[in-house]
Amino acid sequence: MTLTGQSLIAGQWQGRAEQGEFQAFSPAKNQPLSTRYFNVTSTQLNTAVDAADNAFIEYRKTSFSQRADFLECIAEQILALGDDLLTQTAQETNLPMARLQGERMRTVNQLKAFASALRENPDSPLGLKLIDEADSNRSPLPKPRTELNYLPLGPVAVFGASNFPYAFSTLGGDTAAALAAGCPVVVKNHTAHPGTGELMARAALAAIKECDMPLGVFSMLQSDVYDISHQLVAAPAIKAVGFTGSFNVARLLQETIAKRSEPIPFYGELGSINPQIVLPKKAQNEGKAMAEALCQSMLMGNGQFCTSPGLWLVPTGCDELEAEVANCISAAASDTLLTPGIVKTFKKQVSQRSELENVELIAKGALTEDFHGNAHVFACNVDTYLATPALREEVFGPAALLVRYESMEQLSLLVAALEGQLTASVHDSADDLAKAEHVIEELKYKVGRLIHNQMPTGVEVCGSMNHGGPFPSSTDVRSTSVGLNAMLRFLRPICYQS
Ligand code: NAP
Repeated sequence: MTLTGQSLIAGQWQGRAEQGEFQAFSPAKNQPLSTRYFNVTSTQLNTAVDAADNAFIEYRKTSFSQRADFLECIAEQILALGDDLLTQTAQETNLPMARLQGERMRTVNQLKAFASALRENPDSPLGLKLIDEADSNRSPLPKPRTELNYLPLGPVAVFGASNFPYAFSTLGGDTAAALAAGCPVVVKNHTAHPGTGELMARAALAAIKECDMPLGVFSMLQSDVYDISHQLVAAPAIKAVGFTGSFNVARLLQETIAKRSEPIPFYGELGSINPQIVLPKKAQNEGKAMAEALCQSMLMGNGQFCTSPGLWLVPTGCDELEAEVANCISAAASDTLLTPGIVKTFKKQVSQRSELENVELIAKGALTEDFHGNAHVFACNVDTYLATPALREEVFGPAALLVRYESMEQLSLLVAALEGQLTASVHDSADDLAKAEHVIEELKYKVGRLIHNQMPTGVEVCGSMNHGGPFPSSTDVRSTSVGLNAMLRFLRPICYQS
């Protein structure tokens, strides 16, 4: 499929070379791809936002069944892109085909899950309507009938992440949740996969036409100029922002939002180091298997998952476990990272970590190409961890830190000092868990998802999932970006009385 490099502005493909341009990058070849993408102008951005604002008036009146048809049609149109979509994304990300096929299915199923939820509860999102009947005999005053229901907020700005080109991008979770809630969407496409974004926008446009939806209900902006992102979140007609990405960029966008005259919700799904607590008997009895599981999970996607296990809490003296970590990591082949920016930051972070006092490198994998990221596992004791703030930062790529604890009391201290996390896992065997009750009680308040004897990578898309967590893993601890409750981000309550 030939790409135009243009943005989709309310049904029109727009963009010319004079506007400035950028290219996508091939992580496998370490060179730019040939297609040129045109930077959207401020005028085009405003047209997209105004169109979304106008479309809201019509789109919010659609029945839940019409919205469900629309979401299902988008899902079908994504599948109709066929292998062209997978090939394009593989060029832009170098993610393996099996991973891309799985993520595409997950994205399609996410859209269909919202469609089913809308059909199941045709007069109230997720069946949340509450009614208190009138009581004319109540004294001293009669009680009126009140009914609580939910309305869509209005146009939503969506920013996706580089590492999930489908599920957390153009037609990913935030877009699906906003459209299900009745909100038009303006996506700032990610520069790491602009061609994928263009194909996805084609799928959205085909569905808009087939379902006779207003053209302004979905726009997609291409740009590598950061100012465009700030203009988008500052636009008065934008009523909420769904963002998946790094902590630093989230803070910058929040600063811009804070200057708006009308405050709006900002849902930032950010990074995390996802602590893995290995309890003493597990470490002693199953040290080798535990080490393999930790390394495999950390190496998945070359460490580029928001749920990658970056912090391993292990009892001191677990020689078998540590030896196996060293074996696995030394044998791990280096691989590409998603963007040159991620390569640069990864290298800087592991080099800084190597120079920290009282932090040792247990092992690293060979670097076969200079533009790859190679596995690193560092180690330190609890006191060093507690005294070194740099060790709490996410390293986005194949790196982890093993922290040796001497007692359950020391483990408790460390857990109490943890920042907010998307997930944490507790690995136990025999009667370990009973002795760790106070650790787990503390841990519940640090995470959005607490896992027993499993690794954190892989987020199930289902109604009971929570993907989010206390700050700094996300900016709103009350909300999830995965699962049906993600719709709540883009709704507000209204009470009808009498
Ligand atoms: P990123 O660099 O923060 O990019 C996210 C978005 O912000 C992109 O659209 C990017 O635009 C934009 N951006 C970058 N710099 C900006 C600036 N100075 N001002 C305004 N906008 C700017 O993150 P990423 O590399 O794509 O993704 C990796 C991060 O996302 C990791 O921290 C990972 O843990 C996290 N993540 C979290 C989840 C989750 O669900 N919690 C899921 C996936 C990833 P450009 O395209 O122009 O660069």
